[in-house]
Amino acid sequence: MAHELVCWKCGASLADLTLPLRRLEECPKCRAQLHVCRMCREYDTRVTGACREQGAEEVRNKEGANFCDFFRPRPGAYAGRGAATDQALSELNKLFGPR
Ligand SMILES: [Zn+2]
Repeated sequence: MAHELVCWKCGASLADLTLPLRRLEECPKCRAQLHVCRMCREYDTRVTGACREQGAEEVRNKEGANFCDFFRPRPGAYAGRGAATDQALSELNKLFGPR
């Protein structure tokens, strides 16, 4: 099954992994666990518990493998994350100095 998932943590391609993700699947590059809230379509920091799925039990560790039945991997889990953007900005500031 073709997909374009990337690691939520480092952005590495997960194209070699087969879906559905196993619960203890790890990123081949940084070893981050992948069956986690941060990798899920329902993950949304703007809602209570950071999950849009009302029926899901709250998962406290958003970066650890969970047992959630509603888990669905999100292809853009890495791109556009706030933290990643902040990091990119601070890297730029290091290179070019703050404006
Ligand atoms: Zn990774």
